[in-house]
Amino acid sequence: MTTLRSYVHGAWHEADAGFRPLVDPSTEREIARVSSRGVDFGRVLEHAREVGGPALRALSFAERAGLLKETSRVLRENRDELLELSRVNTGTTTPDGAFDVDGASGTLAWYAGFGRRLGDRSWLAEGDGVQLARTEGFWGQHVLVSRRGVAVAINAFNFPVWGFAEKAACALLAGMPMIVKPATATALVAERAVTLVLEAGVLPEGALQLVSGGTGDLLDRLGPQDVLAFTGSADTARTLRDRENLLAACTRINVEADSLNAAVLAPEHSDAAHELFLRDVAREMTQKSGQKCTAVRRILVPAKLLAAAQEALAGRLAKVVTGDPADDSVTMGPLATAQQLRDAEDGVAELAEEAEIVHGTGRRADGTGAPEGKGYFFPPTLLRAGDARAAGAVHRREVFGPVATLLPYDGSPADAAAIVALGGGTLVTSVYGDDPEWIADFLAGVGSSTGRLYVGSEASASEAPGSGIALPQSQHGGPGRAGGGEELGGLVGVALYLQRVALQGHRAEVDRLAGKGE
Ligand code: NAP
Repeated sequence: MTTLRSYVHGAWHEADAGFRPLVDPSTEREIARVSSRGVDFGRVLEHAREVGGPALRALSFAERAGLLKETSRVLRENRDELLELSRVNTGTTTPDGAFDVDGASGTLAWYAGFGRRLGDRSWLAEGDGVQLARTEGFWGQHVLVSRRGVAVAINAFNFPVWGFAEKAACALLAGMPMIVKPATATALVAERAVTLVLEAGVLPEGALQLVSGGTGDLLDRLGPQDVLAFTGSADTARTLRDRENLLAACTRINVEADSLNAAVLAPEHSDAAHELFLRDVAREMTQKSGQKCTAVRRILVPAKLLAAAQEALAGRLAKVVTGDPADDSVTMGPLATAQQLRDAEDGVAELAEEAEIVHGTGRRADGTGAPEGKGYFFPPTLLRAGDARAAGAVHRREVFGPVATLLPYDGSPADAAAIVALGGGTLVTSVYGDDPEWIADFLAGVGSSTGRLYVGSEASASEAPGSGIALPQSQHGGPGRAGGGEELGGLVGVALYLQRVALQGHRAEVDRLAGKGE
């Protein structure tokens, strides 16, 4: 039995009690155990603040970018091992595991290039300066400097490697040491990824610490210079946000939470846009068994096209083979845990009070290649509601599995935008159509409800990668229910870990301090 360890204040820590078991979701075999019992979180923070922080801040952006490049290399070189652990611990097929593992190394590599271009400086000028008085004798310029605290990254179970890497890329580039706490259920693959980076010695001591298991009193010790970057459910986010010391110290908190993402078929669409719609929706429902924060949960189709869309989507979902990814014929693995399976079954039962199941059963099934009665298999399930506005649960309940609901709308951009907004804020909305005026009206209506709008059309169809990919160049995060967070997006994500300072003075002094005109 593997016991997962933490890496804290320069040493490996193995707990001797308080374990939670990790299982292979295809076989329910116990594969590891995890606990952080005995970790001294005061010392963890001290080590980050006094050892890791100064070491990182002594480096320029370009030098820190070099650290990211090496971190990316380590993950890339150990890809096969991580993919195998991903299969065993999270039940992913190879392409689904690669979405996590390659997404991690790719994001780090992109930020390495981005950081190199920021140059040999340790703070950044933001935007143009501005004259504040009659002449340039009094001038203003925003600059971004490293915060002198610690970045605590709490990650969700569904992206154990990418979740670590996308936060590490931005925090380390900004010069902040990191404490990463993976979700327990999939900590085997997360722990291995972080351990590989630590053992490769590519980061300065104290820049990266790992907590396997609970966070003890860590969060109660955070202060005004620290950042809490949380990814997980909206319910957990609420309990973390309400902590008294975090409120009192105004600790910066970024939340990436649930999202009832929508895909919208516009009434005017080319064959290419229509094909992309079907391909994207089927993939975004079933990739990683629907356990993606960016998965499509609501499918809006003009009422007169609803029956045809249902038939076409059900046809695609019928081709999915659910089972143990060790079997070569399997195209979709199990849900990650017994709890996720229970939640998915309960969730579909709630949706089914207001919508009809038109494909699948919303229940566990035996998986191809898996022992009878074992494994958390949940084949794709498609529902359809007759009245989008009356289907309250569809806009309220995130069923974290291969589940989505078809909803009719009247074909106008205003109606589609209003229905999407019922979800209370999404990470991504995708729209498929070729009429630029319709799309512009839709953007005007839906923009404030979504963090990203992905436009699938004849023009973009050959290159559009699917709406579920969080690319480092584009902001990841959404308003309202999605948490209100802002990650990735080049400097957007790095700025979370930097402090903005409004510099004021004579233009020559301000420009010199800001590093302009060098
Ligand atoms: P979760 O149950 O909220 O857990 C998320 C993380 O919070 C885990 O690491 C968990 O640790 C930790 N945690 C829970 N209670 C805590 C506490 N009191 N103090 C400190 N840490 C605590 O979410 P999940 O089931 O792992 O992930 C699924 C959810 O995440 C879905 O709702 C999905 O939409 C969302 N998600 C969002 C994004 C995004 O970018 N917006 C990305 C991925 C997932 P333990 O595992 O040890 O309990």
